[in-house]
Amino acid sequence: MDKTAYIRQLAQRVEQFFGSWEKSELDAQELYRFFHNLKGTAGTLGLSALEQSAARGEAAIGEESRRMVPSTEWEPLVEEARKQALAALGADGCKPDHERVATEPEEREADLPDEAAGRVLIIDDDIELVTYLKDVLEREAFSVSIALTARRGLKLFYDGKPELILLDLLLPDRSGMELLVKIMDKARQDHIPVIVISAHLSKENRLAAYRSGAMDTIEKPVDPELLIALLQNRFAMKRDWERSIITDELTGACNRKHFNRVVQQLIATYQRTQRGFALVLLDLDHFKNVNDTYGHLAGDDVLRRFAATVLGAIRGEDILCRYGGEEFALLLPDNDTQQAVAVVERIRQAFANVSFVDPHGGSFRTTFTAGVTMVHDGNDQSEQLIGEADQALYAGKRAGRNRTMLYDLQQMASEEGKPLQLIFVDDDPVIRELMLQQFAGWHPPGWARQADTQSYSSGTAFLESGWYSEGGKYIMLLDGALPDVDGTDILQRLRSGYPEQNVLIVMLTSRNKQSDILQALQMGADDYIVKPFDHHELRLRIERLARRLNG
Ligand code: GH3
Ligand code: MG
Ligand code: MG
Repeated sequence: MDKTAYIRQLAQRVEQFFGSWEKSELDAQELYRFFHNLKGTAGTLGLSALEQSAARGEAAIGEESRRMVPSTEWEPLVEEARKQALAALGADGCKPDHERVATEPEEREADLPDEAAGRVLIIDDDIELVTYLKDVLEREAFSVSIALTARRGLKLFYDGKPELILLDLLLPDRSGMELLVKIMDKARQDHIPVIVISAHLSKENRLAAYRSGAMDTIEKPVDPELLIALLQNRFAMKRDWERSIITDELTGACNRKHFNRVVQQLIATYQRTQRGFALVLLDLDHFKNVNDTYGHLAGDDVLRRFAATVLGAIRGEDILCRYGGEEFALLLPDNDTQQAVAVVERIRQAFANVSFVDPHGGSFRTTFTAGVTMVHDGNDQSEQLIGEADQALYAGKRAGRNRTMLYDLQQMASEEGKPLQLIFVDDDPVIRELMLQQFAGWHPPGWARQADTQSYSSGTAFLESGWYSEGGKYIMLLDGALPDVDGTDILQRLRSGYPEQNVLIVMLTSRNKQSDILQALQMGADDYIVKPFDHHELRLRIERLARRLNG
């Protein structure tokens, strides 16, 4: 087939696509593939105007796009490509033949399945062979791009993201062997098998090809059936390998490395197309207890069944990843926070019904807590997004676990929430009065409201006061030397009976008692202040603790 005939065939293909589509919505991926293939073929044939017009269409649709494109959007793009294709025909001295185009029965593009079986780059100057192979391979759902020269082959190797290369050893501008040597390092690094095709496969040629890194050699003329079987075999191996390097072995969820990559991709897509997604962090509740009570094997089983429950409840485009240990992350494209919460709640109910075998007899169940956030223009960086989901998750943990928390709602809750409680326990009335004065009307940084203050003159008065309410947040200033109960005694009771992250304790000690300081810290005090203290410094320390309670 000469070039003119090929251009005619190309123009016909554009015409056919244009005509076969009813003027309605089209799948973005199908459109993208159309422009992408058109760009490649037009480039191969040196039709730069058509190539550029296809490139514009391709860029306008976008590779990642998963949506329906309205005809008002795709028609002008396709119309432009169509004009360029007809112009190419005219420039090449052949007439567009609308009659023929309209009755052309060939409709094989419509038979292409959604997902390509693999992206193959054929570098070969034998145009009859390559068009034939392209045809044969595309019927088997491979996506094929063609380079007729080594120079173009090199360009497509770098730009076209091929997954496998069929390389002719004899090329017009550079020998195929030279090209093989040139691309092999990167091909190996990217795990792209190179298969040499040649009519001159002497033992020397074969040896040289294998020694340069070619994976297989195929003799021309190529038997299409054998080629297809070989490619299917190679791609199956490649897919297994690809799956294995992104998968967490224990749970079958994706690993963190893959998660990081997907988050970056989703953020880039969001920035380009405003296509949103929700990010959820899920953490099993008191999982350490599961291990401690039922053993690590039972713990592993919980992790596996948890992942299986989630994977059974999400769509194909959603991604579950094991973020680390017993913490998982879920990426939900095209979901807003409400939809994400609904998904997670469904998972929570499903997981609540899963019971595990207690190796000592009987069974047990377990729960998880989730934090949800959604990408928007103010948080479109991965650390920030993950940080938000993490904050929501820990708000859920603090609120009692086994629940789904929304990042925004969490903020609202903290605005309506309880004030920070400052409690002074000291038998010295002067110090108590000074403290109350200093913190009267104090507005802790990051808090929506002023702090409440209370003071007690003895340990007993404090312990009997009923000072604690569930979910409240406290900063205690505790005198280490009280007349009735020892300060360290109170410290011990606080640490054993109340949530550590909600009750922060500052010990007030005397300068001459270094051992008290050490003991207080060992027993879980968050900070200490030595009497007599500077008020400014006291304020700074309390502010720091207030921020920690809010974070
Ligand atoms: P919380 O509700 O606050 O999340 O408490 P937790 O006990 O779940 O959290 P913590 O982070 O204290 O403990 C996590 C435990 O998960 C500790 C670790 O030994 C266990 N873990 C991490 N990876 C694995 C694993 O692959 N298998 C098993 N069996 N346990 C694991
Ligand atoms: Mg946990
Ligand atoms: Mg954890």
